[in-house]
Amino acid sequence: MTIYLFKTRLVFFFCLVALWFFNNTKLQAQQDMVFKTVVIDAGHGGKDPGAIGKQAKEKDIVLNVALKLGGYIKENMPAVNVIYTRTNDVFVPLNKRAEIANKNKADLFISIHANAISTPKIYGAETFVLGLHRTKENLEVAKLENSVIVLEEDYTTTYEGFDPNSAESYIIFELMQNIHIDQSIYMASLVQKQFKERVGRRDRGVKQAGFLVLRQATMPSVLVELGFLTNNTEEKFIASERGQTYMASAIFRAVRDYKNEFDAKSKLTKVVEKNESSIVDSVNYRIQVASSKKKIQEGTMVYALFDDIWMFQEGERFKYTTCCTNSYSEIISSLTEVRQKVGDAFVIAFQGNERISIADARKIQNKQK
Ligand SMILES: [Zn+2]
Repeated sequence: MTIYLFKTRLVFFFCLVALWFFNNTKLQAQQDMVFKTVVIDAGHGGKDPGAIGKQAKEKDIVLNVALKLGGYIKENMPAVNVIYTRTNDVFVPLNKRAEIANKNKADLFISIHANAISTPKIYGAETFVLGLHRTKENLEVAKLENSVIVLEEDYTTTYEGFDPNSAESYIIFELMQNIHIDQSIYMASLVQKQFKERVGRRDRGVKQAGFLVLRQATMPSVLVELGFLTNNTEEKFIASERGQTYMASAIFRAVRDYKNEFDAKSKLTKVVEKNESSIVDSVNYRIQVASSKKKIQEGTMVYALFDDIWMFQEGERFKYTTCCTNSYSEIISSLTEVRQKVGDAFVIAFQGNERISIADARKIQNKQK
């Protein structure tokens, strides 16, 4: 009888252990599917200034945006682990950056940069994922960003003879299999959508090129180019505290949407942000140059007059605007120029992608100051 009781107890105990073990593994599996860690990589730093504008350096701009972005994530999504590749003005080799992301089993890697080009007229924001460049232009961006490895000691060994300036070196990116490309492109498109719709930046799109910094990362990764330091207006914007706040807010929203999608796939409930009011919606001014019931064909009429036409729909009408800026004085000075081509052009205002009155726009901006 005693032996029988002992056996039952043993079976019962064994069942308990099994149940505990089963639950624990289930919990572990569930945790593995949750978006947990994001690595934010501020490009360049220390002896490597990155692109240099008239008043600002890429390394300083991207560090500010990276720290702001991390701050927003910590504040609004406290369960997410934020890891930076640098938090001050230091030089970090390219291969170390991806290594930090891999070691920490990051779910997402975001490298932040600013661009430079020989044509000062060119401006706008673009987001890259790792792949083979489809245009010479994309290759040039990758060459510029990869060229920083020559500042590293022994770079020929570290990068196995990769020559950042030779087009042949980039063939490896054609042979490489990027298993995270779909998620990376999805994240990149979320970033661009935010830049365009909420900050009113010119959208240069989602692109692919061979970036060494993304090559070793074993998770979805994007490289954001905030804008061109070689364009005066754009440099002023991304070098300003306000511009950096807008850009960081935009990337934050993209991360939030990415995380929600990621977690939804794992059948987990949405994270509701605690304090979204701290995220700033940008106020923008534009100059309306045409309004029409029928869509204007690209390349004709106002498109032929201005190279940065942005169209929006209001009721039944299509409205065409040019000159996006968040500075009221700037838009007023542009208006004089625009009126030389379109006499009855006028200024309109937006908050995010919602049309607001000029008076409201100015009130909001005064409050934000
Ligand atoms: Zn850069």
